[in-house]
Amino acid sequence: MSTRGGQETDLVSAILQGLADDGGLFVPDSLPTFDPASFKGESLAEIADEMLTPFFADTELADELGEICRDALNFPVNLRDLRGDPEPLAVLELFHGPTAAFKDVGARFLAALMERSLAKQTDPRPVTILVATSGDTGGAVAAAFHQREGVRVGVFYPRGQVSPRQQHQLCCWGDNVRSFEVNGSFDDCQALIKTAFLDPALRESLRLSAANSINLGRLLPQVAYHSAAALWNFRRHGKRLNCIVPTGNLGNALACIWSRAMGFPIDRIVLAVNANMTIPDYLSTGEWRPRPSKTTLASAMDVGDPSNMERLFHLVPDFGDLRETVAAHPVDDDGIRAQIAKDYKDYGEIWCPHTATGFHAYDHLARSDRQGTAWSVCATAHPAKFETIVEPIIGKTIDVPASLADILKLPTECISLEPDIEALRSALVDWT
Ligand SMILES: *Cc1c(COP(=O)(O)O)cnc(C)c1O
Repeated sequence: MSTRGGQETDLVSAILQGLADDGGLFVPDSLPTFDPASFKGESLAEIADEMLTPFFADTELADELGEICRDALNFPVNLRDLRGDPEPLAVLELFHGPTAAFKDVGARFLAALMERSLAKQTDPRPVTILVATSGDTGGAVAAAFHQREGVRVGVFYPRGQVSPRQQHQLCCWGDNVRSFEVNGSFDDCQALIKTAFLDPALRESLRLSAANSINLGRLLPQVAYHSAAALWNFRRHGKRLNCIVPTGNLGNALACIWSRAMGFPIDRIVLAVNANMTIPDYLSTGEWRPRPSKTTLASAMDVGDPSNMERLFHLVPDFGDLRETVAAHPVDDDGIRAQIAKDYKDYGEIWCPHTATGFHAYDHLARSDRQGTAWSVCATAHPAKFETIVEPIIGKTIDVPASLADILKLPTECISLEPDIEALRSALVDWT
């Protein structure tokens, strides 16, 4: 169903459509619940398959879910212990996919799913995915869909606000992928895409779909890795897992909240944010005040109007309850730099700036919150993607993972765009 109550549909249609007709976001009518003691799956793909089965039960892809999970989740996700009992702390490494950020999980699942669903359709025209990105989404989506039949991807990113290596990952694909450098902020990119969606002619002629973190097809596999981490921790330590999730548009964090609501052994959830204070301000004042985003070192979290908040409000409508559901910890750029330096010096660990906000949150927990409890911090990207920020802080060159090195060898191309719908229309008109 839609968060605004105006559209009911089945899961696969909701994923193909992206945004609901009434402008709301699709959410499951209800969340299934699981008992961790009798849950069978061990690997991420097995856990995803088992956990997602009720969601796909009455859809055309019910029989192909296992194959989709194995196809999409074919790289490691590790819950790596950093310190042992009685105070287990682990890092949930989500960056071992093709573009070295957690968004590969959702993007690859969505691509594997859409390819199979579109193969069943009779309309021969390709579907066009428009994706706004503050850095990692676009690269992950482009990589996941590149050269797949029946789908095209338009990537929109804010000029000058993504790292050089991120920009390379956005613009190196060609074929069925086009990259647009927008003269504006991430919020402008997102608004532009929303406008395109609400334009019936454009939507129909291009068969528009979304692949942002607003797409359920990206959120659901993210629930799977939080559930997997909680189960692995539970089996290892016999404790519920407290989760710190670096947060921008609230996709990764909402997936964690849904996982806990489905009965997976997660206790507290802390949202680590950068200097974009919309969420922490809301939790302290009760007043929801979206605002323009601010540029920070953790650029993939530079979001002033997190869209997935609408889903959280839908799940937890009461402010008092919502305050019990999550906490938020803001970190400014100085805090990010200091955390990267400290954890390298003390533990030899190298974090990307987003992951550093999470470890900053951990270090600032009250001692009583840590004692005897298990915590994890999501590592959302490999630090080699943000080498211009991280290398000067640690005084050392970061090794580039092989998949990223391959991408960085490809030539790049992009189209400049002003952030208005007419400019977008004329840029897309020849793409039919
Ligand atoms: C996208 C992203 C985030 C923020 O994730 P949301 O789901 O938007 O909250 C954090 N870190 C990295 C590296 C990202 O790419």
